[in-house]
Amino acid sequence: MAGQQILDSLLMEFNALQVREILLAREGLKVSRTLVQPEYLAMICALLEKMGLYIAIHDKKYIYETDAGKGGWVSRYGFEESLEANHGACMIYVGIRPEDVLAAKNYEHSQNDCGLGESLGIPGCCVKMYIDSIERAEQKQNDYLEFTLANTRSEYPHNHWNNIAAQYFGYGLLSHYPCSFDCIPSADLAQKIHQILADYSRKFADMFLRYHQKNYIYTEFDGIFCLSGSTFEGGSIYYDPSKIEVTLDSVLASVLRSGNHIRVKGKHHFQVLNEKAQQVAEFEHPDISLLIFD
Ligand SMILES: [Zn+2]
Repeated sequence: MAGQQILDSLLMEFNALQVREILLAREGLKVSRTLVQPEYLAMICALLEKMGLYIAIHDKKYIYETDAGKGGWVSRYGFEESLEANHGACMIYVGIRPEDVLAAKNYEHSQNDCGLGESLGIPGCCVKMYIDSIERAEQKQNDYLEFTLANTRSEYPHNHWNNIAAQYFGYGLLSHYPCSFDCIPSADLAQKIHQILADYSRKFADMFLRYHQKNYIYTEFDGIFCLSGSTFEGGSIYYDPSKIEVTLDSVLASVLRSGNHIRVKGKHHFQVLNEKAQQVAEFEHPDISLLIFD
């Protein structure tokens, strides 16, 4: 099958993030993991095998709940059930070598985070950040974005290749949280992934890139906001309130729609102002983060 044909057949069954993972596995960059509903498992395995891929299936089903306020995003898998259970999703590992997919599955079974991180092609510095932050992440929803931001030493705007917030809107290039927005191995990896996707379809790859080049407001429980078409100038973000994309229509969403620029006071502190430069609201809380990219 030609590249575009492979892409089209995958897009009929999977979302863009899953397609990215399968294409990267096909190119030998990594072993990929994805959750599949059991009723589609046989059909999906047949499709992937036709593309020359090997599959291992986790021997338990995952019962998961979506995160609050993240548009269906799942950061934690809850508990496991036997494969015979009536509910739950199957985790599959996909790669070009059978020994690699089995190794990834076994690393996950034995909770070997370093081994699994390596199988999944995650830079060692980011695996370390993940392991160091597990306990604190589990106290909330098991999301690591706040640790990426906390570890970032550079000023705004950050390197857009490391913009992991793009994933919540379905188009992130990275499948892991960078150890910081300054992480060079992650930025290099995102560029490599963009090139691999572009070899299948420039249009598909550039959709991801566009989401990396946007600014975001991340909240842990009250939605994530993508400020499409916004610009960062002189310490303020200027945005079009009609172009905001949201994962949850929260109070913050309506506040943002009544303003048109944000005065940045810190990573977790900002004022929303309207076109008359009148303050609409001020926010300062560790669970609200500004993510600004070049
Ligand atoms: Zn890193």
